Amino acid sequence: MLNPVTPEIESALHAALPEQAFRPLAPRYLEEPRGRYKGGDALLLAPRTTEEVALAVRLAAAHRVGVVPYGGGTGLVGGQVAEDLPRPILMSMERMNRLRGTYPAENVLVAEAGMVLAHVQQAARDVERMFPLSLASEGSAQIGGLLGANAGGVNVLRYGNARELCLGLEAVLPDGSILHGLKRLRKDNTGYDLRNLLIGAEGSLGVITAASLRLYPRPAVKGAAFLTVESPVAALKLLSMAQRRMGEGVSAFELIHRMGLDFLRDTMPEVRQPFATAPEWMVLVGIGLSGVPSPEPELEGLFAEALEAGLVSDGVVAQNEAQRLAFWHLREAIPEANRRIGAVSSHDISVPISAMPDFIEKGAEVIAGFGAMRINCFGHLGDGNLHYNVFPPAGRRAAEFEAERGAVKRAIHDLVHEFDGSVSAEHGIGRLKVGDLERYGDPAKLAAMRAIKAALDPAGIMNPGAVLRGA
Ligand SMILES: Cc1cc2nc3c(=O)[nH]c(=O)nc-3n(C[C@H](O)[C@H](O)[C@H](O)COP(=O)(O)OP(=O)(O)OC[C@H]3O[C@@H](n4cnc5c(N)ncnc54)[C@H](O)[C@@H]3O)c2cc1C
Repeated sequence: MLNPVTPEIESALHAALPEQAFRPLAPRYLEEPRGRYKGGDALLLAPRTTEEVALAVRLAAAHRVGVVPYGGGTGLVGGQVAEDLPRPILMSMERMNRLRGTYPAENVLVAEAGMVLAHVQQAARDVERMFPLSLASEGSAQIGGLLGANAGGVNVLRYGNARELCLGLEAVLPDGSILHGLKRLRKDNTGYDLRNLLIGAEGSLGVITAASLRLYPRPAVKGAAFLTVESPVAALKLLSMAQRRMGEGVSAFELIHRMGLDFLRDTMPEVRQPFATAPEWMVLVGIGLSGVPSPEPELEGLFAEALEAGLVSDGVVAQNEAQRLAFWHLREAIPEANRRIGAVSSHDISVPISAMPDFIEKGAEVIAGFGAMRINCFGHLGDGNLHYNVFPPAGRRAAEFEAERGAVKRAIHDLVHEFDGSVSAEHGIGRLKVGDLERYGDPAKLAAMRAIKAALDPAGIMNPGAVLRGA
């Protein structure tokens, strides 16, 4: 049983921490992007140092008070929302936002957990390097939240997800002890890898306070092209062709369906569309190359070969950096267009890459069973990860289909399971998918997860209710 932060516990925290660590609980801390969860009363703390985090967690452990780590608040599964908890501590990392160091010769940067991703990217650019993690929420999402959720984004194809970009972690464990794992090593085989345990734990095993991050040389040139494809099967063949021609230079390969373009036209007409008539399917190919003077000939070469092979029917290659950014702007506006339309049910799923076309076809058959619902299926084809979102029929509102939401979700997740896929490719479990993890998770994995949680957090104070039920 957890206890709320009582006036006595609050006094003990005031005695231990500087006054600046206490912040008013503004409404934004109680909301999340999809509006599905609403936080309850909490004590908002914004510590400035790792020691302050440790002091607060130690007190929370002593009094069995819940601690919910809070980053940029952009998580999409409710992991950061302290809903239905006896007044917990909401631990915002916003003041732990310093760059601790850059080591260009090592291709390493050390950042505190509250540093916003866009600032980390800039710090890497300042030393002529690149931090490749990139996603539409990068102006708000923080390093701690991104590692907590093991975020993916658009460059996973080439550089991996947040986990692959982290070399070491500093964190406060549920008993208030500090894990000093901030090494800048690429090789360190000294027992259990606690870094990888904390990454993706969504704050349920501790509070990440800083991370050493892997940087990369910046490609000399970057390019992008929209290519229309007949089908997802053709898109996969195009991906193979692009990788044969440019190898690792292919950094992103995003599938976009006409529904996404229709939603953009209806809700964000200011976003420029590349084709006069929206194609059924198109892909956005992103490349970063060194050793060539410009990216356009490479993409034009791909376009010509794919045209010849009958894989694409039309295409447009960005001719300058402004156009490249405009292409990405279109892709990244799709989630906002979706939000404005309002989904009945959204699914962040992955299946083996070669099974994606089959999944898309079967998914449409399953959804047809629910009437004339619309599907906007788009995302990171190169990673086998789709945002498979189901919308009400045209002219209707999602609220009218509240009763169907559970059945739609279940049908899609059952299909994902049949395909040996994952019901959470990149957003995590949070509070939203606890039941899905129980339903589809491997029993041995679940038992091991529960044992780890019990060993590290016997009182269940770290992000209670996230990832594991009743923990
Ligand atoms: C427009 C938009 C686009 C997005 N696109 C993508 C995408 O392409 N790919 C993708 O993977 N995600 C995407 N997301 C989801 C979201 O941005 C990521 O999940 C991100 O990692 C959340 O970071 P945050 O700092 O906002 O964390 P929060 O939302 O604050 O927290 C997320 C989780 O991490 C925990 N946490 C936060 N800070 C810490 C810490 N210091 N230590 C331990 N745990 C912590 C929280 O308790 C919570 O469980 C998108 C979100 C939006 C709104």
